Amino acid sequence: MSIHKPMPISGVSSNKIFNQLDAFKQQDPNYKDARVWSLVYYLNDEHQDFLKESYFKFSCENGLNPTAFKSLKKMENEIISAVADILNGTDEVCGVVTSGGTESCLMAVKTYRDMAKDQRRVKKPEMIIPESAHVAWYKASEYFGVKIRIIPLKEDLTPDLKAMKKLINRNTVMILGSAPEYPHGTIDPIEEMGAIAQKHNIPMHVDACVGGFILPFMEMNGVELPKWDYRVPGVTSISADVHKYGYAAKGASTITYRNLDYLKYQMFVQPNWSGGVFASSALLGTRPGGAYAAAWASLQYFGKEGYKKLANETYQAVSQLKAGIEAIPELSIMGNPQGPLFAYQSNDPGVNIFAVGDQMDAKGWQVNRNQKPDGLHAMVTAHHLNVIDQYLADLKECVAIVKANPELANQGGAATYGMMAHIPLRGMVKKKVLEIYSGLYKAGGGDMDLAAQAEAEMDDTETKKGLIDRLLTWYVNRQTQKSTK
Ligand SMILES: *Cc1c(COP(=O)(O)O)cnc(C)c1O
Repeated sequence: MSIHKPMPISGVSSNKIFNQLDAFKQQDPNYKDARVWSLVYYLNDEHQDFLKESYFKFSCENGLNPTAFKSLKKMENEIISAVADILNGTDEVCGVVTSGGTESCLMAVKTYRDMAKDQRRVKKPEMIIPESAHVAWYKASEYFGVKIRIIPLKEDLTPDLKAMKKLINRNTVMILGSAPEYPHGTIDPIEEMGAIAQKHNIPMHVDACVGGFILPFMEMNGVELPKWDYRVPGVTSISADVHKYGYAAKGASTITYRNLDYLKYQMFVQPNWSGGVFASSALLGTRPGGAYAAAWASLQYFGKEGYKKLANETYQAVSQLKAGIEAIPELSIMGNPQGPLFAYQSNDPGVNIFAVGDQMDAKGWQVNRNQKPDGLHAMVTAHHLNVIDQYLADLKECVAIVKANPELANQGGAATYGMMAHIPLRGMVKKKVLEIYSGLYKAGGGDMDLAAQAEAEMDDTETKKGLIDRLLTWYVNRQTQKSTK
């Protein structure tokens, strides 16, 4: 028998299909009760229905050719204008709506690589990024052949600017700062970095994918924050995701530039294609009209006052959470996170933070793990305000359980994460993860239940290598199950 599930011979009724779709959801993370601390930015069903309806109105429309569907270009113009406004840009700020933060980051790298090639004949492009930069920048480096030069972090998790200056050379095509960075929620010192970039005449991108739709409103609410947007003279471009704190439907981010002189290097033109002269402003061909409509609708729906209210609720939630965690003697917040997300670590050698994570998972929370240094992560939304007390009570209890049972550090997820984070053979980890991840995409879709199997099979008699194999399998499956949502 084939491993493939064949296409149904005759069509299935829509009712049956809807039931199946609902059934698929049964095993998904429970974001509606604010149990999930990454991946989804959910408020309530009413807002979700509003987004759905806006999306459906344009789910056939295609933004590929901006001169065809003028509706989509108009929405794109208005989204970019609104972003330029909240990022304190001048009238010259321009940009493109993309499919997500990753596309926005990829585009910045392509733009600055091509600009350096055109204006300075740079053949071996390099970009300077803090170690805390989002993984999308590492992806961009591999995809576009731009070598990464990493700025190490100081104790407070901000990039070491002295080290940064030493990395600048004639092949540097761009410098990156984040507002905030994803792993610990730290806002990089953009004003200082911008001044250095400007002095060397190097473009600087600010990755505000996660911060772009919340930091401006926090500031409007009176929260004191360092400057990181177009008010900083050295900043030449900013990415900001509407599908994160803009609470739009998935598939909407923005990349804006200080002016068209930069943006024009993002464009692709092919005059000789048999299908006609072709031009494109970003990565995608077909661009989903629904995502534009839902993003535009969300901005209109909330307006500045609405986003300020959401930012305030988020700020309340994140402040209460950070204070509550700091009050647990075994735990501390990492660095100085000023935005809506943060990470925390154990400062008690008897409390393994990954074991605390396992206990939190067991209580139905979905918390992400950090490495280098080890920690747990929280991306907080306005929706989480309802569950702060429960989260903190559970966290306290989990810390007590781990403290009383230190052997938990060597079991299940804690053992896996610990080994993945600390094993020095990074090449081996990469190779193994590649193997397992590819396996998930083999014909038939791979075995989604490998995780359970690997855990059941583990026993003390295994060789270390066999153990590593199984632990990695368990880990990657778990990550994949989380990230396919
Ligand atoms: C989320 C995020 C990205 C990537 O965005 P996606 O929409 O997930 O592709 C890039 N940078 C930062 C700082 C982010 O938080």
